Amino acid sequence: MEPLKVEKFTTADRGNGLRAVAQLRPGELLFRSDPLAYTVCKGSRGVVCDHCLIGKEKLMRCSQCRVAKYCSAKCQKKAWQDHKRECKCLKSCKPRYPPDSVRLLGRVVIRLMEETPSESEKLYSFNDLESNINKLTEDKKEGLRQLAVTFQHFMKEEIQDASHLPPSFDIFEAFAKVSVKFHLFAVRV
Ligand SMILES: [Zn+2]
Ligand SMILES: [Zn+2]
Repeated sequence: MEPLKVEKFTTADRGNGLRAVAQLRPGELLFRSDPLAYTVCKGSRGVVCDHCLIGKEKLMRCSQCRVAKYCSAKCQKKAWQDHKRECKCLKSCKPRYPPDSVRLLGRVVIRLMEETPSESEKLYSFNDLESNINKLTEDKKEGLRQLAVTFQHFMKEEIQDASHLPPSFDIFEAFAKVSVKFHLFAVRV
């Protein structure tokens, strides 16, 4: 692989980001990878394929959780690696369904616990994201605390203690990261 033409940097007061370390041509592709995690948002659930996100009138349902839907057997097969652990959680919390950010964070945790790191982590990792906890209002913090409780309840089949989480992973802080960046993950149809 060619050396990256961007590097990470941090600032004391303006967050962190990526900057060019070489001359770039307009429109030059700098990095490509699948996202660390993504999920179909509430409004598109049952309308688009959980794997390729393409809309289709007739989708096939996961026979286990009956929540995830796919456009084809091929997509269902490809999705299984990412879906199998959340599948148990989706099944156990029925008839309720978790908020989008809870399902998304579940997928993030599952990916971070995998032995082979996701391609996307090589450039900018989940760890690198700013949570901006200090800048949150009390109301916002309370909302995130509630999400953290919902998350623990939703994931109880898969996460019973800290050993099932990435090292020094803080659920509250992770929600601050996910909710701040949530627009990046939202899916449009
Ligand atoms: Zn599909
Ligand atoms: Zn399922």
